Amino acid sequence: MLVTAGPTREAIDPVRYISNRSSGKMGYALANAAHAMGAYVTLVSGPVGNVLRAAEGINIVNVESAGEMYEAVMRCRGGADIIIACAAVADYTPVLVSGLKLKKQEELTIELKKTKDILGALGREKSAYHVGFAAETHDLLHYAKGKLEAKNLDMIVANDVSRDDTGFDSSHNAVTIIKKNGGMREIEKDTKENIAQAILSEIASDLGE
Ligand code: C5P
Repeated sequence: MLVTAGPTREAIDPVRYISNRSSGKMGYALANAAHAMGAYVTLVSGPVGNVLRAAEGINIVNVESAGEMYEAVMRCRGGADIIIACAAVADYTPVLVSGLKLKKQEELTIELKKTKDILGALGREKSAYHVGFAAETHDLLHYAKGKLEAKNLDMIVANDVSRDDTGFDSSHNAVTIIKKNGGMREIEKDTKENIAQAILSEIASDLGE
């Protein structure tokens, strides 16, 4: 199984970057739970600090930027039967990275370009069971179903990041699992560890295990 987790950091200059509030907790919980169930797990992790621990035996690949995450996933995906993209990959990255620290100025415009959609690219040459996440502040199920189709996924886990007691940066989550085969399951607020178990058991039931 291949799992992506955490945010990415897109460098502006040697000391500044663009990132997001993803803690990596959901992805680490998934990787640890799958490992405990006996899966061989590769975890491609963005920068999550020193708080999270991947269980011994998990093959961890640390990356910083969306570009590095893309390369690592493409390198490590071979042999994975299940790919879970839990990372909050930055959608945009600076066109130019300054080699020197930018000096203060009255106004600063940073030109951004889109990053490569890792899950979207994997979906075009699909050979595994693919799970994506959709973090939205509004029209959650509508956008999640759109992503399920657009990224050629088997399952999408939708979470409402407008709530401040769950989602990004929290130890808890509340999600709706939507499957390609039409199945839908709502999971009330629970720890990310328990949500991870629920997601894995839904995958296992789809794969007939
Ligand atoms: O399109 P959006 O970014 O909302 O889709 C979220 C899903 O796509 C997540 O599963 C995320 O890990 C994945 N994704 C990705 N590469 C990107 C952007 C998102 O794999 N560049």
